Formats: sequence, structure tokens, C-alpha cells
Amino acid sequence: MPISLEEQPFKKLSAIGEFGFISRIASASRQGAGVITGIGDDAAVTVPSPGMQLLTSTDMLLEDVHFRHAWHDPYRLGRKSLAVNISDIAAMGGIPRWATLSLAIPADLSLDFLDNFTRGFLSMAAEHGVSLIGGDTCASRNGLAVSVTIIGEQFPDLILRRSGAFPDDEIWVTGTLGDAALGLKLMENGFDSTQPPESSLTKIEGREYLVSRLLDPTPRRSAGLALAESGLVTAMIDISDGLLADFGHIAEQSGVGGVIRLADLPLSSQFRSLAPSLSIDSSILALSGGEDYELCYTAPKANHEIIVAFMKKCGIEAASVGIVTNLPGVKGVNGDGSPCDVQIQGFNHFI
Ligand SMILES: [Mg+2]
Repeated sequence: MPISLEEQPFKKLSAIGEFGFISRIASASRQGAGVITGIGDDAAVTVPSPGMQLLTSTDMLLEDVHFRHAWHDPYRLGRKSLAVNISDIAAMGGIPRWATLSLAIPADLSLDFLDNFTRGFLSMAAEHGVSLIGGDTCASRNGLAVSVTIIGEQFPDLILRRSGAFPDDEIWVTGTLGDAALGLKLMENGFDSTQPPESSLTKIEGREYLVSRLLDPTPRRSAGLALAESGLVTAMIDISDGLLADFGHIAEQSGVGGVIRLADLPLSSQFRSLAPSLSIDSSILALSGGEDYELCYTAPKANHEIIVAFMKKCGIEAASVGIVTNLPGVKGVNGDGSPCDVQIQGFNHFI
């Protein structure tokens, strides 16, 4: 019978050792679809669904590069470390299935932190049908390092790549943009997400929302899958480094360019109400801010109405924000059609 993490209180990792920690994680993990042998042997054994190909992606989160202990509670850090990987599988239209988790752990990190991290990781796994099938732990002399590898699957003709966009396709995005980047600005300006709200509840709630979009992003797994199965889409990517940079990857790999209409970028009500208080150019933040983990995809203009109806039926917010061009380069244009001077740059995380 699985043993919950709560039932085994220890203060330090050294008290239970590497194997003790692994067995705690193994006890708390559930093995889902396609797992023949999970954690505990020299290698995991998995079987893909008949006719599907495998999609593999890996991502690393480093202390003081991608996260700070002062800002990131362990539970949400655990969730995010898997969420960003699920997002990459979603960006290909795939079904996330199996993940490995490797941790380099500083000696002074409490077991309580690791337990909460693991709980967060496994909650994200359970929400998206992902099985944790292995990993590694070792000591770190330079902060916590988290490395996750994820394997997904999909039928070959449904897999969506960055290279499929054509000139005159429309550029679409799911959800809203800039929320996580504004959440980061709020954290940099001293907003403490761990303190209970005291006054001005609406504003606090708005800030909580934006900060949670940074600390606990939602991977668009079902949206990615629905778009892949729809056959309406030509290329797709997830927005981890900002729309401008990430659509730039589609443009580069498809041999095209693009024009993005700033006035059409979808913004949350929380973003609209709080961005002005920080004297931030909203559209620039929405265009180049990172870590929203929404999807950007391209589709023929002729599919516009079908996509609107399809996304509505799926309950997914989607907005047409631009057009693919045959000239190279990605440009932003203002509401009046004038060019917007924005440098294409990746999101800088914390440094
Ligand atoms: Mg990606």
C-alpha cells in the first residue's frame, strides 16, 4: 500500500539517505498508462500506444537562475518543474506520459522542503496523467538544481512542428499574455506572495493571480492536443520566452516572417488593472515577457471561423494576433499600423 509523505517525518535528507528518499518518492508516485516497470529497477520499462511516436524533452531549473527560495515555495516549484516540460509536449500536440526527475540537493536543504517539492511535482503529474518513472539524486555545493525529462507520444501525422507555417497564415495565441512577466515585476517590487491579504482585497487578488501565473503556470496540454487533432493548424510552439521570441522560432524554422498586432494581444483584466501602476508599457510586456506557457500556433486564414468555433467548443480562449509574411523578420505594429520598435530578445529570467 502506498505510504504518504506525511507519515514519515524526517528533518534532513541525510537521516534517510538517497535510497530512503527515492523510496519515499516511489511510494508516493502512481504508475499510469504504458508503465510496465517504474521506479526501482535499473531502468524503467514503458510501452508506447500502438502507432504512436515518442516525443522527448528536457528542462533544467537552477537556483538563483530560474528560481529564488525567497520567492518560490517548494510546492509550486515542484509543480512548475514538471509544468514547463508538459508545456513542451503540448506544444507538439503530444500526450505527456512519463517523466524522470533528477535533483542536485544542497546539504542544508530540509527534508520538509523536498517533501513539499515532491508533493507539488506529483500533483502536477496527476493532473496531466504523467507517471514519474525514475531519476537521480546527488549532493550539490551550489544550490538546488532540478532536471526533468519528459516523454510523450502522438500519432506521426498529428505532431505539430515549428517548421510548418506558410505565408498568409494567421498567428494565434491561447489565453492571455504578459501575466507571468508582470507577476515577476510585482515580485521584484516587493510583493510578498506568502503573506495573507490585509487590505485592498481586489488588488491583492489581482497580484496573487499574476504572481501565480509566474510561480504555478498551467501547461496547455488539452489545448495542444485539441489543436493537433483538429487538423486546422500548420505550426505550433509554447510561449516560454515571450511571443515575439517564440514566434520568431516558428518564423525561422518555417522560412517566413510575421507581423504581430499589438492592439490584438489578449490581456487579462488583472494585467490591465495592475500594469499601469508599475509604469510599464503593457503591450511591450505582453509581446516580449516570458513564462506564460501559452501556445502560439499558425493556421490558414480560411480556417479562421472554424478555429473560433472549435476553440469555443473546447472552452479554450484563443486570439488571432497577426499574420505570417513571406519576408523574413518578425515585427510588431501598433493599432494605427505604425511599426513598433521592439527588440527581439529572450526572456531573461532573473539575471
Ligand atoms: Mg518550448
